[in-house]
Amino acid sequence: MDIISRKEWGARAPRNRQTTTWSRRTEFIVHYSEGPTTQTPRQIQNHHMDSNRWADIGYNFLVDVKGRIYEGRGWLVVGAHAPNHNTSGIGVCFIGRDGDATDAAKKAIRWLYDEACRRKGGTLAKRGHRDVTATSCPGDQLYAWVRAGMPAAGAGEDWMEAMMKKLPLLRKGATGEHVQTLRALLLARSHPEIGPVEGPFDARVEAAVKAVQKWGGVTVDGIVGPQTWPVLLRVHK
Ligand SMILES: [Zn+2]
Repeated sequence: MDIISRKEWGARAPRNRQTTTWSRRTEFIVHYSEGPTTQTPRQIQNHHMDSNRWADIGYNFLVDVKGRIYEGRGWLVVGAHAPNHNTSGIGVCFIGRDGDATDAAKKAIRWLYDEACRRKGGTLAKRGHRDVTATSCPGDQLYAWVRAGMPAAGAGEDWMEAMMKKLPLLRKGATGEHVQTLRALLLARSHPEIGPVEGPFDARVEAAVKAVQKWGGVTVDGIVGPQTWPVLLRVHK
């Protein structure tokens, strides 16, 4: 993934900066901005520098709903995001309110976490801001995700499950590219009676589907859905 640099998002120069080292970095702290998802890093920086009178934007990185990553203070500059945890903690802010975090945003935050561990050459503790300060931050949704170990979207599912979710429900008369997929799978399962790969979901296909369903031990209804696709895709050994 790419990190949008300070120069690219038009950051103001910091008033001052203090650096730390990877050996002192021990935790990764997730925040939310508790504002609109359209807020820009520059608007957040202006608020932090002009209203809070901080030296710079408080966070080390920011992530938006589209999963874009913005450089804040960066990896090893001490931030202003969690009192007593700014040297030990890398602060990452999701731009939005509770419930706004998307899979793309979570994936980006997880990527930053993995990249931080890689650069450190060790593991950083995963924390929500509320773990170290009395605050609602980073909101219930993101906090639950952090507590669950920050699973990347799709992680924990194998490719078969992921693919299955994209496959449609097909019945006699269905059309479209997935009918060709179905016909190809039936041909691979020794049902030449359906004819070539290109063709409709007709009565012959329905009969072949029923035969496969019977073989697979699922409901014999001739409808190809979440129970039948896995049977069709089961690998012969
Ligand atoms: Zn926070």
